[in-house]
Amino acid sequence: MSGLRVDSERCDGCGRCVDVCPFRGIVLTDDVAVFTESCRACPICARECPTEAIFLEEEVSSVVPGYSGVLVVAELRGGLLQPVSAELVGEGRRLADLAGFDLHAVVLGSGCRDAAEVLLQYGVDTVQMYDHPELEHFRSEPYTDALEDAVKRLRPAVALMAGTPTGRSLAPRLATRLRTGLTADCTALDLDGEGRLLQTRPAFGGDVMATIATPTGRPQMATVRPSVMPPAEKVEWPAGEVIEVPFQPAEYRSRVLEMRPAPEGSTIADAEVVVAAGRGIRRKEDLEMLEKLAGALGGMVGCTRPLVEAGWLPSTRQVGLSGRTVRARLYIACGISGAIQHTAGMRSSERIIAINADADAPIFDAAHLAVVGDLYEILPVLLESIERGESLYALRTRNG
Ligand SMILES: Cc1cc2nc3c(=O)[nH]c(=O)nc-3n(C[C@H](O)[C@H](O)[C@H](O)COP(=O)(O)OP(=O)(O)OC[C@H]3O[C@@H](n4cnc5c(N)ncnc54)[C@H](O)[C@@H]3O)c2cc1C
Ligand code: SF4
Ligand code: SF4
Repeated sequence: MSGLRVDSERCDGCGRCVDVCPFRGIVLTDDVAVFTESCRACPICARECPTEAIFLEEEVSSVVPGYSGVLVVAELRGGLLQPVSAELVGEGRRLADLAGFDLHAVVLGSGCRDAAEVLLQYGVDTVQMYDHPELEHFRSEPYTDALEDAVKRLRPAVALMAGTPTGRSLAPRLATRLRTGLTADCTALDLDGEGRLLQTRPAFGGDVMATIATPTGRPQMATVRPSVMPPAEKVEWPAGEVIEVPFQPAEYRSRVLEMRPAPEGSTIADAEVVVAAGRGIRRKEDLEMLEKLAGALGGMVGCTRPLVEAGWLPSTRQVGLSGRTVRARLYIACGISGAIQHTAGMRSSERIIAINADADAPIFDAAHLAVVGDLYEILPVLLESIERGESLYALRTRNG
């Protein structure tokens, strides 16, 4: 059953729905439209119906009995809590407060008591701690087993994981075991009045933002894009508790033989200062100017997609929907127009300075400081002023 219905009072038998349906999902019977077994609920006919006779009937209440609470899965690396965990807790707390739920965090590791205590300081109600040598390094099999156990015990209405390689590996496995829905890589979440988690994520390469719900499956699972949601603040008087949960490992096929650290400096996702280059840069050699500026500010050079496509910078430097998301303390956009696919990856930065020759460039909508002018004139002045130890904002006074 698709959930789509025809209001026979409104249907005037025009047949438009029959013409537009690509699947023979609807026919006219006695001048009234009727759905057939072939309907795939796409729902083109509903959009095309001139009398709005086709509607979606809500079949299931989204408040599923026995499921309450928000559960977030913390991430550790080398035993240390990763920043994305605080972002999950911040968002989890907001959603839990909206619904009057408890907020639970799960931490998995070996010797992870310290990380559990840090999670408490972010104000979660419970930390479910699975502390076992088998969980020392991430492996999908034991981690999925432990999370399945946590979900089956707590029966949360919402479960959030990070949209990191670890989260992306675990979440689909867990959702499949629990036979529930999962929305990957969300950039915004909300709860409606009926307890439905509204999960917003870019679709079709970022051309549209889709909002997805899981009406029947529980928990409602989502992975959350790192560096998009604000992190939780530490609370003054943590009132939650750490619950140590016994873990019974099975026979696993995978083993960790060796851990090698990733080469440093290969990603801009963690850079505090990003100087980003757009197509306003005329030649590859001119990137040196930006490298100098980034060096002077202790940051890294990022870029828009066209510069990666031109082979000027590696894809690890691309900021945006199909690149990295950055949450820099300072982001300087040089000759970047401000397409949504780019700004989606940088607009959570604390301070954004945009330099563009076009006063109407959309990047200025995302900027805290707009510098209208030729970057080839402005950047040398900016570098000079930094070398003299002046504030970046001095530029505004000296150049009008
Ligand atoms: C599916 C999909 C995914 C995408 N993903 C990404 C992504 O992850 N990241 C990304 O960045 N893009 C992405 N894009 C591309 C995106 O849509 C834009 O095309 C791209 O961001 C534009 O790059 P730009 O701002 O450098 O170039 P342009 O849009 O060409 O802008 C150049 C700007 O430079 C200014 N300028 C020119 N000369 C000067 C000068 N001398 N001084 C000052 N300003 C000057 C111009 O006024 C202009 O505003 C994606 C596109 C699609 C379709
Ligand atoms: S398009 Fe609407 S009004 Fe026309 S036949 Fe279909 S349901 Fe009825
Ligand atoms: S919802 Fe889609 S598949 Fe079903 S009848 Fe309408 S157009 Fe056809």
